[in-house]
Order: sequence, then C-alpha cells, then structure tokens
Amino acid sequence: MKTENNLAGSFRDFGLCDEILKGVEEAGFRAPSPIQQQAIPVIMEGRDVMARAQTGTGKTAAFGLPAMNAIVRTNGLKVLIITPTRELASQVSEELYRLGRFAGIKTVAVYGGQSINRQADMINRGAQVITATPGRLLDHLRSGRLKRFSPRIVVLDEGDEMLDMGFINDIESIFEYLPKERQTLLFSATIPGAIKSLARRILVNPVSIDVTPVEVTPSGIKQLYYVIQEREREEALVRLIDTESPQRALIFCRTKRETDRLSTTLISRGYSAKALHGDMTQVHRNEAIDAFRKGRVDLLIATDVAARGLDITDVSHVFNYHVPFDPDSYVHRIGRTGRAGKKGKAITLVTPLELKELRRIMKVSGEPLSYREIPSIREARKRYLSGIIKKLEDQPVREEAAEVLEELSETMEIHQIATKVLSMLLDRQKVSGPKRLGLNSQEVEQMLYMLKKQKTARSKRPSHQYGGRRRGYRR
Ligand code: AMP
Repeated sequence: MKTENNLAGSFRDFGLCDEILKGVEEAGFRAPSPIQQQAIPVIMEGRDVMARAQTGTGKTAAFGLPAMNAIVRTNGLKVLIITPTRELASQVSEELYRLGRFAGIKTVAVYGGQSINRQADMINRGAQVITATPGRLLDHLRSGRLKRFSPRIVVLDEGDEMLDMGFINDIESIFEYLPKERQTLLFSATIPGAIKSLARRILVNPVSIDVTPVEVTPSGIKQLYYVIQEREREEALVRLIDTESPQRALIFCRTKRETDRLSTTLISRGYSAKALHGDMTQVHRNEAIDAFRKGRVDLLIATDVAARGLDITDVSHVFNYHVPFDPDSYVHRIGRTGRAGKKGKAITLVTPLELKELRRIMKVSGEPLSYREIPSIREARKRYLSGIIKKLEDQPVREEAAEVLEELSETMEIHQIATKVLSMLLDRQKVSGPKRLGLNSQEVEQMLYMLKKQKTARSKRPSHQYGGRRRGYRR
C-alpha cells in the first residue's frame, strides 16, 4: 500500500530535481498520468517528440516538467511554448509557474493586447519559460526586440488547433528564427496530414507517443475539490473566486437563507453577485437570471431547485459551497459548465466530515475529482492581477468611455489617467484574508488514507459480527 512518503515516488523515478519535485508535490499530483509516464523519460533523454494527447490528460506537465528540469540552474537557457490562444497561453504559463516556482523558474505569457516592450523586457531580463501565441511571438522576433533569443527547447502545443486557426504560416516563419540546435516537442489532439508534414520539417527523429484520451472527462469539465474547515468556508470561496477570476460562475448553496447570506456578503466585499431562490418573486428571479445572462453580474448564488431549467451556456465555473445532497445533484450542477464544447471548472468545498460523502458521490457518479490546496494569499494576489489583465483585455469598450477620456485628457496625461483608473479598479476589490486556508496535500492524503483503511477494515470484519448483532435486533 502506498504511504505518504512515496506518494510522489513515481515522479521521483524520472530523476527530476528536488525543486521541481516539490512543485509536483505542492500541486497535489500523486502519480504520473499515462502521457507523463511516456513522455517525461524520452524528453529527459533529449529526444524530439510527436505526441497525440488531449487537454485534460496532464500534457502540460508532461512537457513542462522535463523541459523545466533541463533549464534549472543553467545560465539562462530558455524554453519556448507556442499555443494557439491567449487563454491557453496564460493557463499553461500559470501551470508551469506553479510547478517550477520552487526551482526559481520565471515564466511569462506573451500574447497580443499587452505592452510589447514590457514583454520583451521580461524575456530579456531572464524569464526562462516563455509561453506565447504565434502572432505576437512573430512580432517580437521580427522586431528584433529579443536579445540573444535562442530557446533550448521548443514546444508546439495543440498543433491541430494552430492549423485550424490558420497559424501554420506563422509557425513556419517562427521556426526560421529559432536555432537549429534545439529540442522540439509537438503536441496535438489529432494528427492530420498537415501536422504530419509540419512534424517532418521541424522534428528530428522524433519518438511518437499516443495516449488515447481515457483521462479526459467527455465534457471538458475540470473537477476539483478543496478540503477546508467549516469556519473557513466563506474565505475559501472568496480566495478561489479571486484566483480563478471566473467569467461567470454559479455558486450552489443548500438553503435559501444561505444563498441570501452569501450573496450579501459577496456584494459587500465588492463582488458582483445576485441570489436566486424559490422565495423570490418571479420578477426578481427573472431579473437575476437576466443580469447573469447578460454579464451584468458575474456570480449567481442559487439553490438546486431555483437553478433547475436555467439555460445559460457560458458558465465558466460551478462552485459547490457545500457537498451536494446526492450524486445526481452533483452531476446536474456541474453540467451547467463546460457546455457547447467549452471548458469549465467545477469546484467543491468540503470539510473533513463531508469528505466521506464526497467520496461516495465520486464513486456512484464515476466523476473524476481531484483535490487541490487553496492558493496562499501571495499566490492569490499574483493570479488576481493576471486575471484583471485578462479581464481588461476582454472588456468591451463603451462609447461614454471615450467621452470621459477626452474630458480627462484636458487636465491629465494618459498615463496618469490609466494609473488612476487601474487603482480604482484594484481598490474596489482587494485580495485579502488569511495567509493560508484549508488542508494541505499531506493532510488530505492522510485523511484519504484513513478513510480507505476504515473501509478495508470494515469489509474484512468477519460477517458474523454484523450478522449476529443484526439478528439480535430483529428478535
Ligand atoms: P492538462 O492536460 O495539462 O490541461 O492538465 C489537466 C489538469 O490535470 C491540470 O489541472 C493539471 O494540473 C492536472 N494534472 C496534471 N498532471 C496530473 C497528475 N499527475 N495528477 C493529478 N493532476 C494532474
């Protein structure tokens, strides 16, 4: 039986350095996923790789861990990861930051809409893992802003998406700027002809890896749970909202009173939230749903009953403030996100007491949940700021804004205006709360281990113990 000390044992077998292993442990990964099993050793050997793997299989860590391992403690060797979209770039960059932070690896996401000079500065000043979208990367390469840019390892992530999005010419041009002496890894969910021919041009004697997508939840919903103490519930939710920066989230509560209380608290803390429950008048309910649908509020706090029949496609996150009553309710709730082929996240808060109940739900529903640690306040601040940047990029521009800007620029410099507006935004919602929240991975592992042990002990107990007593009761 596995014990706590060898939980990351099989990750240890790869020969990754201790600082990287610490990142793996802190991320709560217990055993390598199939793609990681196959890819990590060959990447560590320095081979080129052509891998067929989908999102959700753990592919980011499969290329990220060995790639970061190769540049730890080197004099500024770099890894370049090219992804088709901004979202993926920031997601990959975040995951690699999380895994590489104990090794002191600096990461940067590079995509359009952000200051090109600032990005170039970060790269020139020593960011070692650069995750970029093709267009912006090509701008950088063509402008000559990047000094001595010669990545040791280059990863093309979601190759087929790049193809679909028409980036293939950009990719070809990018490779003209990259050094011939490099290790190249190509990841793609499918391998159409055009990817094969790209592979022939950019890979040298690659190892092919194929992972059938058994790991992927069909709906593309990432399901996580966090173990917390009862008194931490509200702070934990707030911390997760801050770090996840959900575009639109449904938060499920068990009672009407709880939805009211929680929405009041969230509003008073600066979040845009509304409650939805059966005691509200139809008019108020419609108002809440409409505001949520049109994006005027980000958080809708609802009971199971009130949310029934809600047809809103773009829900990025579902939060279960408590463990749902039963497996059906869990499946139903999480089905609100990840719709229409989009990715979604379902996050459940559980206390140690509720953990047993959650395990039952996992068993009956067959849903693959994994636990995570609640981000520390430091990490939360960092993620919150990148969330704000992303929100700003996506913010549609209103006509009045241009009018106000014109008026303001009569008395202030643009830079001063921008700084003031940003400060206003940051003042409205501050990341606060305790340094640490929730149980850490060791504590959760221990609890899971105890639960398993209890179960085994029960099933091993001779049947007459139960049988005898039961017969006794019947009499
Ligand atoms: P990806 O396929 O890279 O998008 O990864 C999907 C999710 O699985 C991410 O949230 C990872 O943090 C997580 N993950 C990756 N590897 C493992 C692992 N070995 N054990 C548990 N979770 C993992």
